[in-house]
This record gives sequence, structure tokens and C-alpha cells, in this order.
Amino acid sequence: MNKLSSEIFPILPQTSVTDTQVNNLLKYQLIPASGKGYDRKESQAFNAPIELDYIDTEMPPVIPKTKWETIVEQFSDQELEVVFLGTGAAMPSKYRSVSGIFVNLFQKGGILMDCGEGTLGQLYRVYGKSETENILKNLRIIWISHLHADHHLGMAKLMKVRQELAPKHRIVVVGPNVLGDYLTEFSACCEMGLEFDMAYIHDLSTTQVQPYQDALHDMNITLSVVTVDHSCRHSYACVITYRDFPIVYSGDTRPCENLKQIQNCGLLIHEATFEDELQDEAIKKKHSTTGEAIQVGAAMGAWRTILTHFSQRYPKIPVLDEFGHSVMIAFDLMRVNIKQLSQVPRLLTPIRKLFAEELKDMSEAKR
Ligand SMILES: [Zn+2]
Ligand SMILES: [Zn+2]
Repeated sequence: MNKLSSEIFPILPQTSVTDTQVNNLLKYQLIPASGKGYDRKESQAFNAPIELDYIDTEMPPVIPKTKWETIVEQFSDQELEVVFLGTGAAMPSKYRSVSGIFVNLFQKGGILMDCGEGTLGQLYRVYGKSETENILKNLRIIWISHLHADHHLGMAKLMKVRQELAPKHRIVVVGPNVLGDYLTEFSACCEMGLEFDMAYIHDLSTTQVQPYQDALHDMNITLSVVTVDHSCRHSYACVITYRDFPIVYSGDTRPCENLKQIQNCGLLIHEATFEDELQDEAIKKKHSTTGEAIQVGAAMGAWRTILTHFSQRYPKIPVLDEFGHSVMIAFDLMRVNIKQLSQVPRLLTPIRKLFAEELKDMSEAKR
């Protein structure tokens, strides 16, 4: 995928653990004991040149310029990027960790939208150690969509590390009812000494939480929320707007009228837990199918829609029957600079070709 776009799917920074050079796709073999040790075969193959001759031919054409393109053209490439740290549902798997989306505003700071377990580790994987430490110091808000564990279990550790790096600057946690109590209790039980400013979503329309207002002001963003339709009480979606560019994140939800009413959307990040054939399952568990998520994007008039939160039954790539010229699927560690957003859906066709074997296996397994 790095060959398709080296910016959206960058080679991850190399790191060293004690005296071992760590490369992408390095394996450690435990058994059989005779072969125990590091296995670099795949790692070396990864570095070999790969020819993907369909890259240019398979990409659909770019659609005509819209107002959104005019807006993003005015951005510098160091202003706004969205990084998908975890794109799987329920529990982490080999290819997809659980929910975590980092909105990087570079010099101005950053916001995490959900923070499932492993979010901190994924940040280290994307940015390397020293850049991650800078990012943590400048991280102003963690926004949590709802209280299912796959959306917040990574918070405490990440907050602890951040607190050690920036002890004088408390982070603002924005989330549903009782999240603050849970964090306080967790911190006490594990003797973590976490300090944070809590802003409860249901209070924000009536109560001023000054540290929260300050963080929004410093980052030059607005943040609003709508309630969504999910199996967890107090589930929310949010709209983060920076320089007239709104990013909408659905959290977990059925296709939702409140979302459809947001008619100003540059980027919609919508959950798409199940394939269209499993709509009954989606209804039962209060999630969306890929087709439903795409329809919500269309109803909103979203310029770009990126699907995420895939059931772990689709380990590498989700089943996607219909998609237009504005849709992309998220992968762990995918970086989308807002300046490249117009091009992002063009990657979907070659990506589906890259994973043709997996898609074929999944469709054969259903028969
Ligand atoms: Zn979830
Ligand atoms: Zn959920």
C-alpha cells in the first residue's frame, strides 16, 4: 500500500529495542526451539521493489472541483491531518486495533477521537518516539464517543505518559456521563495519580468548562455533538471544524437522522461494522453496514466519507459492494493530510485489487 501512496501509507519509523534492529514485518519465532530467534525473511521481502503496474490505470478519474477543494487548497501541509490509529470493532486483531483517531493540528495541538486500548502504542508506531512525545505534550483534548470498552480502554495509560511529559498542562477529557468517575476510580485503584479536567458532553450546552473552552480557542476549532443511535446509553457523534472545514465522526451508531441533518461536511468518518448482507446483525447490535454508512454520507452531502470500525471478521479488508467516487476505507496507521483528501477515494479501486485474494476467499466462505 505504501507503493500506492507513500504519504497516506508511510513506511513506519525504524526503531531499536536494546541491540536489535527492528524492521517492518520482523518476526520472532518461538517454536520450534531449533529455529528460535528473529526471522527477517518477510522484512527483507518488504524492502524489495514491488511493481504495481495497475496503479495509474486503475484509479478512477478525479471528479470536478468543489467548494471543498477550494477550501483545502488554502491549507498548508502542516495544518490538519487525520490519523487512523485503530479501525477495528470490539477487540484488537493482528491487522486492526480498536477505535482511535488522531486529529493532528500540528503547532496548534491535537485531539483524540476515541482512545481504545493500544492507542498509545499505535501513536509510537506512526510517529516514532520523539515525535510522539511532542504530540502527547501538545494533545489538548480526548473526546470519547461512548462507554464501550473498545473506545476508551487506552486512555489511562496514554494520559499517564502524557502527564509525565507535561505535568503542568492538564488534558481535557470530553465524554459521556460517568467517564470522569471511572477514570478517577481507575487512577486510584492503580495508583496512577491521573489529573485531568473533565467536561461532560451533556453539560456542555449549559455549563462553561473553562479549560475546555481554552483548548478549543487555542486550537482555533469548534466542536459540537449530536446524539446517535447505539446500544450504549449516551452515545455521541462529533463535528470538529477547523478553518471552515468540518470533520464529522459518527462514533458507533445505526444510520442516524441527527447525522443526516448535518448538511455541511467536508469529511465524514463513519462506522461500518458489517457488510450489507449482515444488516440484521447490524440492526440487532445497533451498528451500520458499509452500504448504510455510505448512504448516510450521501444524505449529508459529505464531500468525502471514510469508513472505519470494521468487525474483526474482516481482518484485512471489509466487504464493500457499492462505492462511489467519494468513499475510502480506513486502515490502521493510515495518515490523511487534509490537502490530499480529494485524492484519497482514488486509492480504493487499486486497494481492492491488492486484496483481491482476501475478498475472493471471503465471498467463497459465504457460499
Ligand atoms: Zn465500538
Ligand atoms: Zn459501541
